[in-house]
Amino acid sequence: MEIIMNYKLTETMDPKFSHATKFNRYQAGRDHQKSFENFSSAAPAPARTRTPMMNTILAALPDYELVRLLPKMDSIALAAGEEISSSDDSYVYFPESAVISHLYMLADGNTVEVAMIGSEGVIGACSIFDSSQSAHYIRVIAEGTAMRIKATILNNEFAYNRQIQSLLLNYLSAHLTQISQKSVCKSFHVIESRFCTWLLMLHDRAKRNRFSITQEQMSLFVGVYRPTITLVAKSLKDRGLIDYKRGKVSIINRQGLEDTACECYLSVNNM
Ligand SMILES: [Zn+2]
Repeated sequence: MEIIMNYKLTETMDPKFSHATKFNRYQAGRDHQKSFENFSSAAPAPARTRTPMMNTILAALPDYELVRLLPKMDSIALAAGEEISSSDDSYVYFPESAVISHLYMLADGNTVEVAMIGSEGVIGACSIFDSSQSAHYIRVIAEGTAMRIKATILNNEFAYNRQIQSLLLNYLSAHLTQISQKSVCKSFHVIESRFCTWLLMLHDRAKRNRFSITQEQMSLFVGVYRPTITLVAKSLKDRGLIDYKRGKVSIINRQGLEDTACECYLSVNNM
């Protein structure tokens, strides 16, 4: 995990322009247009190097709230396969281009993915309920960026800020729906369809066609044994839907994946 940028005030910043500068720095990477005329005229936007994809929960905040929160957040880069320790519940993460798996770990060490989270969601927000997540852990599926904030700060915001309350509770409701859907999916749908649904969800969130991921990692995320994933991936490759080579998986025929996916894909997609 690498901190790309934080938005704390620096002594060299003119206080009159500091918020504008910080806002413009962030705004430069946003892929949607929100009005910020009051800020853009105050200072030029510095060059920005991280992926221009903003978390939709943060994007839904009014500009004045976003400007107020940014100094309390860091922009971080997450590597594929990186684990965010379950014991490190001191931060809440808002993925941007990173895609993250929320896994449940059994006593024997086996895991199953209970939810996949991209720029539509947030990880660690259960801290607002003061609940323990000891059996859960978080692993990055697709590398990318995220914004993070200390859980104590977000909890304070949640206590009095109705906009943040509404956005987080709305997302957590959708998150619970995804967890429920995955439970039903695992009980009733064949592995090939489940795997296609998983690939489509990853494709939607990462917004790219190629991923660095091994079959071992895919079996962990999908919750099946490695030989099963190998057979299913070969079948999809033979039909020209995907390709894989040396830890890289490419989506070749998205429509074919949609035709093979189970109904859960559309259900989760329409949340
Ligand atoms: Zn399903």
